Amino acid sequence: MTELQRDDNFQWTGDTVECESGIHWGIAEQANGVVAILVNSPGGVLTGKQVRVLAEIVGEDGVIKNTRRMASLLLIPKEKVGSALEQLQAVGLRVANLHKSVRNIAACPGKGFSANSRGDTLGLAKVLDETFYGTILPWDFKIGISGCPRNCTGVQCQDLGLMAEPRGKYSLWIGGSEAGMNPAHGTLMRKGIPLEQVIPVVKRILETYTAAAEEFGSELGEGSLVKLYHVLEKTGFERFGQAIEEVLSNPIVK
Ligand code: SF4
Repeated sequence: MTELQRDDNFQWTGDTVECESGIHWGIAEQANGVVAILVNSPGGVLTGKQVRVLAEIVGEDGVIKNTRRMASLLLIPKEKVGSALEQLQAVGLRVANLHKSVRNIAACPGKGFSANSRGDTLGLAKVLDETFYGTILPWDFKIGISGCPRNCTGVQCQDLGLMAEPRGKYSLWIGGSEAGMNPAHGTLMRKGIPLEQVIPVVKRILETYTAAAEEFGSELGEGSLVKLYHVLEKTGFERFGQAIEEVLSNPIVK
């Protein structure tokens, strides 16, 4: 089984961002010369202190754009990027990934906020982020969590979607794609996954995806052609189904 590697080291050179592992970090010069920094916030959650720092970075009349993946896009002059990165780090904020890793985790408000919710979403988004942030993957990987079948996060449109069921369990979809030329709905792989098994199951799916992308590399191509749903066209769902059952049949596998 392919061992997952993580890399959250990147360097801002003053002009561009460099990273040895090839992960694409969310810092990019825009057409008008302004630099956009994409700030990670699992489930879109920020503390008041963090919001204040984001406001300080962009300035009184600056712009913060919330993205569909619940991250915050800061638009600032290039010469401010270095100090902005230090300010973000000081309040526990990190730059989001674009490609070759896990994107900002999307989650609806869930338990404690939404009256409809069947289970936790924001806590799970935080744990998923802590576990998989900066994991090196074949291409970008979107995870979304909904707290009930009203499905405000659109779990079928994610590479991996989780939906809370009653009594602390989750249903799992894989292989969706919300954007691109060929958007696709994911497939329901499993119901009734206990909360404590969600992280081991996601880890095994990422391992299976990485190994299969390597195996079919020359047939797949590069870039978005290595997204999970393209890999699934080669492997079929059975390989992933078996990997999930293997984890669930052995609660001590982490
Ligand atoms: S998916 Fe359900 S729990 Fe989550 S915000 Fe929508 S209605 Fe509420």
